[in-house]
Amino acid sequence: MNTNMLINGTQVAGTAENFEVLNPANETVLATVASASVEQVNDAIQAAAHAFKTWQFVSDADLQNAFAHIVKDIRQEKDDIARLITLEQGKPFGLAQFEVDAGANWIEYVASLEIPVETIQDPSGKTIQVFNRPLGVVASITPWNWPFMIVIWHLFPALKAKNCIVNKPSEYTPLSTIKLVEIINRHLPKGVCSVVLGKGAVGQALSEHPEVAKVTFTGSTRTGQSILSHSVESLKGVVLELGGNDIGIVLGDVDVDAVAPRIFGSAFLNMGQTCAALKRLYVHESVYDQLTQKLAEIADAQVVGDGLDTTTTFGPIQNRMQYNKVKSLIDDAVAQGGEIITQQGEFTASGYYVRPTLVTHVQAGVALVDEEQFGPVLPIVKFSHIDEAITAANSTCFGLGGSVWSKDIEQAQQIASQLETGTVWINSHADVSPAAPFGGWKLSGLGYSFGLSGLLLFTKKQAIHVTAE
Ligand code: NDP
Repeated sequence: MNTNMLINGTQVAGTAENFEVLNPANETVLATVASASVEQVNDAIQAAAHAFKTWQFVSDADLQNAFAHIVKDIRQEKDDIARLITLEQGKPFGLAQFEVDAGANWIEYVASLEIPVETIQDPSGKTIQVFNRPLGVVASITPWNWPFMIVIWHLFPALKAKNCIVNKPSEYTPLSTIKLVEIINRHLPKGVCSVVLGKGAVGQALSEHPEVAKVTFTGSTRTGQSILSHSVESLKGVVLELGGNDIGIVLGDVDVDAVAPRIFGSAFLNMGQTCAALKRLYVHESVYDQLTQKLAEIADAQVVGDGLDTTTTFGPIQNRMQYNKVKSLIDDAVAQGGEIITQQGEFTASGYYVRPTLVTHVQAGVALVDEEQFGPVLPIVKFSHIDEAITAANSTCFGLGGSVWSKDIEQAQQIASQLETGTVWINSHADVSPAAPFGGWKLSGLGYSFGLSGLLLFTKKQAIHVTAE
C-alpha cells in the first residue's frame, strides 16, 4: 500500500512523526504513514509556484486531453480505488464504486465548462475585455467522509482554471487520495498537483503559507473559522464547505411508500456522514405514524457490517471520535425522553458500528435535533402547522440545505423560498449537481463549489481596456 506523498512529481516519505490509518470495520492498522515536515510542505508550495509559471498558459486542448487520460485511468482502476475507499473509510464496496464512478463523471463535467471572457463597451466608446485569470497556488484540505469524491471536487475546478494545487487529505483517509494524485501526476507536469500528508500541524502550515492564494476546505465549522482567521495576513481567499443541520419537511399529501426509501437514503447516505444529508426530519401529523413505521422497517432491514462483505448494506462509522459523538447524542436524546423506534444491535466485531437509528419524541432543545450528528441517527419531529416547521428550519446557526416533500410543487416552492439555506431540494435531498452552485449560508460556509460559479472562485478578474491609438 503506497503511503508516500507526491511532491513536485516525486514520491517522498514524510520526515515528521508517524500516524496510523485504521480500518473502521475492525480497527486493524491498514498503514503507517509519515507526516510531512514544515519544510516538505514548503517544498510542495514552492514546486507549485514554480510549475504555475508555465501551467497558467497551458492550452485548453492539452488540459482537456490530460483530464480525459486521468478519467480513463480512474475508470480502469475503479475496483482497486473502490477497495481502498472501503478499507479506509468503511462504506460498502458498492457505494465506494459509485464514489469512483461519480468522481470520474464529475471530472468530465468540469472539463466541459468554458471560462468566459466578457466584452464590455464603455460609454466613452473604448472596449474592455474582462478575463478570468488563475490565482496561482491553491491549498486544499479534504475530509474523511467522501475521501475520493471531495478531493475531486477540490482539485479539478482549480486545475481547470489553470491553478496549481497542494492537497492535504484527512489523516483518517489518505490512501485513496494518494492514489488519485498518483494518477493525476501521470498526465500533468510535475509540481502542478501535489499531496502532503499529516496529522496535527500540516493543514495549518499549508493553509497559512504566504504563497497560497486561496484555501479550499471541507470539514467542521470550527476549523473553517480558524482557516479564515489565519487568511487575514496575506489576504487569501477561502472557500469553506462546513457543517449543516439540514431539515427535511414532509407535508401531509405525500405518498408514504414512495418517499420513505428516498428519505431514508438521503438521511443515511454514507451512514449519515454527508455534509448535505437530511439531519432532522419534520413530518406533518397526518402522515407521521405511517412514515415513521415505514422508515423503521427500512432501517431494520439494513445489514450492518464490514463494507467488503458482499451482504453488507450499511457500514461502520469512519472513526472513533465520530462514533463516540453519535453514541453520546443518542444517549442524551434518550435521557431527555427520546424513543428509539429501530432495532439496536450488539456487535462482536471491534469496528465502529451503529445500526441506523430513528429517534422520536424529541424536539428542538435536544442536542440531537439542534446539532449536526454526522452519523447514522435521525431525529423525527411531528408538526401540525407548516409555520412550526419553517420556524424550526431557520432557528439554527447552519444554512447548508433543506428539503420539502410534497405532491404540490407550487406549495413546496413557496416553502422553499422561506428556508435560509444555500440549497433546497423538492422531493429529494443531498442530491448535489455538478452544474449548480452549492454553498452554505450562515455558519455552513463561505463561497460556492460546483458549476461555473464554483469554478470562477478559482480565478481573479483582469480588465484590459483598449483605446484606439
Ligand atoms: P476538521 O474539520 O477538524 O478537519 C480536520 C482537517 O483540517 C485535518 O486535515 C487537519 O489537518 C486540518 N486542520 C485542522 N486545523 C487546521 C487549521 N487551523 N488550518 C488548516 N487546516 C487545519 O475535521 P475532523 O475530522 O476533526 O472532524 C470534526 C467534525 O467535522 C466531525 O465531527 C464532523 O461533524 C465534521 N465534518 C464535516 C465534514 C463535512 O463534509 N462538512 C466532513 C468531515 C467532518 P492537521 O491534522 O494537519 O491539522
